[in-house]
Amino acid sequence: MITDAAEILDDFDDRLRAAAFAWLTSRTFNGSGNLTYSEIQSFSFEGQRIPLKDRVKGIWKPASLRSALSITTTYRPPGVVRPYDDLIHESDGLLRYKWNGIERDEATNRALRSAMQLGVPLIWFFGVGKGVFKPVFPVFVVGEEEANRQFILDADPSVNAAVDESAAEQFLRRYLKVETRHRLFQAVFRGTVMRAYEGRCAVCSLQHGQLLDAAHIIPDSDEDGVASVVNGMALCKIHHAAFDFGILGIRPDLVVQIQSGLMHEIDGPMLRHGLQEMHGKRVSVPSAKAERPRADLLERAFERFRQAG
Ligand SMILES: [Zn+2]
Repeated sequence: MITDAAEILDDFDDRLRAAAFAWLTSRTFNGSGNLTYSEIQSFSFEGQRIPLKDRVKGIWKPASLRSALSITTTYRPPGVVRPYDDLIHESDGLLRYKWNGIERDEATNRALRSAMQLGVPLIWFFGVGKGVFKPVFPVFVVGEEEANRQFILDADPSVNAAVDESAAEQFLRRYLKVETRHRLFQAVFRGTVMRAYEGRCAVCSLQHGQLLDAAHIIPDSDEDGVASVVNGMALCKIHHAAFDFGILGIRPDLVVQIQSGLMHEIDGPMLRHGLQEMHGKRVSVPSAKAERPRADLLERAFERFRQAG
């Protein structure tokens, strides 16, 4: 039986992508962790080291593949413009990724276009710090807008429009798109917050990834509840829940307050060491000023805490 060369290539391509996804899943503890550039470059497949991203360029195609394997979005500290303004389009809620440069047929643009034509899954490395990335996968290139020099990306092409879908199906599809986007931004939010807080609870310094959350200061259901590090804080599960339920408050000058009713209760060690002893303690915040909690957001959250008491 004669197997054609393209088929062998496609098979290699499938296996490599699947292996890369499995490796990233395990290296990020099921998606909860970040990876540095050098960790990402340590991936190997069938005895060969294969870089999963380029050091400089946004779009990356290993020589052994027919199409792009990953795209990268550079980290942007709060308030600074990204070099590539990949963004969400209000019209359809899908993400956009800019061409590399302005030449349609530049090699990496062709590699990403080819990933679209072949329908292969890609990895999106979101910068969550300098040289630190949150990998999001699989993502698919589902279209291109040449006039705007950009590609259209989607995390799940199976929820794309069918011609004859009913109103309920349309609703579901829109809902799934919003969900997908939400998950994507939450993943990036978590990665950024964990990196900025060096993987420690801001209140008690617990440093155990599985017991830490990226908490929102103003909930993300609120219109001011932006998924930005300035509205976030790394908190352990207990302190996160205590914060959300108004048991623990953080004053705008970063001092922890415990609800007065709780201060007089007598219970086991968790109440005493975990909550009562935190009263009056100053929370730890990122060393970079631009990444610290925004004072107006802390003030609003603290007002809520005072009303709850
Ligand atoms: Zn804690």
